[in-house]
Amino acid sequence: DLQLSSRVQAIKPSPTLAVTNKAAELRAAGQDIIGLGAGEPDFDTPDHIKQAAIEAINNGQTKYTAVDGTPALKKAIIAKFKRDNGLEYEANQILVSSGGKQSFFNLALATLNKGDEAIIPAPYWVSYPDMVLVAEGKPVIIETGADTRFKITPEQLENAITERTRLFVINSPSNPSGMAYSLDELKAIGEVLKKHPQIMIATDDMYEPILWTGQPFCNILNATPELYDRTFVLNGVSKAYSMTGWRIGYAAGPAKIIGAMKKIQSQSTSNPASISQAAATAALDGPQDCVQEMVTAFKERHDYLVEALNALPGVECLHGDGTFYVFPSFQGAIEADPDVSNDVEFAEKLLKEAGVALVPGSAFGAPGHMRLSFATSLDTLKQAIERLQKALG
Ligand code: PLP
Repeated sequence: DLQLSSRVQAIKPSPTLAVTNKAAELRAAGQDIIGLGAGEPDFDTPDHIKQAAIEAINNGQTKYTAVDGTPALKKAIIAKFKRDNGLEYEANQILVSSGGKQSFFNLALATLNKGDEAIIPAPYWVSYPDMVLVAEGKPVIIETGADTRFKITPEQLENAITERTRLFVINSPSNPSGMAYSLDELKAIGEVLKKHPQIMIATDDMYEPILWTGQPFCNILNATPELYDRTFVLNGVSKAYSMTGWRIGYAAGPAKIIGAMKKIQSQSTSNPASISQAAATAALDGPQDCVQEMVTAFKERHDYLVEALNALPGVECLHGDGTFYVFPSFQGAIEADPDVSNDVEFAEKLLKEAGVALVPGSAFGAPGHMRLSFATSLDTLKQAIERLQKALG
């Protein structure tokens, strides 16, 4: 019998990709499926970014680059942090990777030993706990609900911290909840972290520009600059510039750990694709109005969807602060349906019987909810709501 490592047996495949695949299978079999599962913008990558990639190919930028990214891209990232976030970094504090996913993976592998605890607020991005498990760390989940707009309180954080805590992960605006922490909320969380110098902090800012609170974007470092020496800012071009397929993410933080992450990357994937790096440089250095156009469309769809969901029996949905997800409770609808006993079964039923693919909240550590992506046209969303209306009676 072929042996599997305990490492791989500790994790599961990404549930969001699984829903997307299942929907694709049913579609291939001839079923009419509306997919609200995907975690990627439906817009094309802006033209000037594609052009930069084409030029890179024609100019022969088709060879290995520095493992941690081309000088041009690192310069663009440093300028971006200064311009958008008021944060200062040197080149040895930046690591470019093949997607935000690899940035976090490198970080977990470079910082966690067996049994080290990583605190992850739920609902969480599906990959954090599994990547911590691959690194043989222990995910410690803090549960939240609609009462706190799916955000943790400082007390909850304090109670979750032990001597083994090494990493605290915060993602704002959040996939899947769509919620963003305010500067004051981050300050309160920062006060707790200040008391525990053994904890490193990862702020995942992947959805930074997709925000409509009326307040400027802020992260834990803006709130508590004292944490600079142990905080990692993770970001990327996937969501902001509709570049999910290009696979470029980046991390900024203390040079010692960034260097360790680079070492891991040098022994696994090496540099991210040279052509994608040229495209990402153009994205960060170029005009930003393409981002604002997408955000305007997302906000319009968000407003429609929240209202339409709240009109469904047994469904309750908060207004989100950003991203392209809403995270309504379907608890009432699940309880009213004798055929199902939880959100996973209900999502399966909606896929089979209503032809609507959404991701059950359990995947994100918040059972009873569903994540709906509105990275799809308003027309498609309206059709999806009609189908849900029928299915929920
Ligand atoms: N972080 C969050 C919160 C995400 O939702 C995603 C993508 O789904 C990522 C990071 C990783 O993005 P990518 O690896 O596609 O750059």
